[in-house]
Amino acid sequence: MQVKAYAIQAEGQKLEPFTVERKEPGSEDVLIELMYCGICHSDLIIANNESGAAMYPVVPGHEMVGRVAEVGADVDLVKVGDLVGVGCIADSCRSCSPCEAGDEQYCESGFSLSFNAFDTSGEKTFGGYSSHYTVNQRYAVKIPDGMDPAAAAPLLCGGITVYTPLKRYGAGPGKKVGVLGLGGLGHLAIKISSAMGAHTVMLTSSPNKVADAQKLGADEVVLTSQEDDLKAHAGSFDMIINTISGEHDANSYLPLLARGGNMCFVGAPQTPLPIMISNLLMGDKLMSGSLIGGIPSTAEMLEFCAEHNITADIEMINMDEVNEAWDRIEKNDVKYRFVIDLASL
Ligand SMILES: [Zn+2]
Ligand SMILES: [Zn+2]
Repeated sequence: MQVKAYAIQAEGQKLEPFTVERKEPGSEDVLIELMYCGICHSDLIIANNESGAAMYPVVPGHEMVGRVAEVGADVDLVKVGDLVGVGCIADSCRSCSPCEAGDEQYCESGFSLSFNAFDTSGEKTFGGYSSHYTVNQRYAVKIPDGMDPAAAAPLLCGGITVYTPLKRYGAGPGKKVGVLGLGGLGHLAIKISSAMGAHTVMLTSSPNKVADAQKLGADEVVLTSQEDDLKAHAGSFDMIINTISGEHDANSYLPLLARGGNMCFVGAPQTPLPIMISNLLMGDKLMSGSLIGGIPSTAEMLEFCAEHNITADIEMINMDEVNEAWDRIEKNDVKYRFVIDLASL
């Protein structure tokens, strides 16, 4: 079936209206009538070919929410009318040990990104800047009752990206968690870490972000531009979740970690970061990385967020405002996620 979408057709071009051929749902597939799609910075990196991996035409979008419109004969996890979300993972081998453990993002054959990739049947994936999406039922996660579907969309990538390491490394009562970077990921990290019960600290160089971070639930804000502030908090953090996706000097933050503390990277700077290794030796410190989260964890994260009344802070746009929104993302001018109202398509 032919459906409406927005695509970039060649490198250097803007997003423009495009028609996508969606496959009819197979026996285990669902066809979703999309309502909202969040705009993640990775959309820009991939579709503008900054990572060198664009396969044009590219329909971006991997934070989709919509209603199940059709199901295949063997679908038993969702039914027509259910509100569901699809994040980064649209397919995987389903039989390797990471897939069996529900860590599809580490599928040994490589998971299929929900856009600009190929699924396991060899078909190219086109993302959520579109009216409909067809996917195997395993990768469509139910949105809990009562959750605002538009503000839930960014949880499908942004939310799970920060939830996974916060949970894995034990954010909770008695722990001190630092959040570096106040954007789409950072604002959700503050909310989720606080809800887990950790003492949550925003680490920022800009005094004009202090009030925003407090409003989001940060217990404290450390101004990293102030030498005294850094000294006062040296050696005290159990974990720092580093959401910065641009070039930065991580060395200045490593002394903040307590002995055995962990700086976990969830953003993806496109250039190598120079690290002074003695910053790790002194105090037995760790650096780690974490990639989104698997499907069972995504469902768990959504339940956790519903229980704690957490969604993203969003600015809703119409489809024809998407190029302007992308320009604003490049300038960090959004609080904190754009979401496309796909009814405007
Ligand atoms: Zn994303
Ligand atoms: Zn697999």
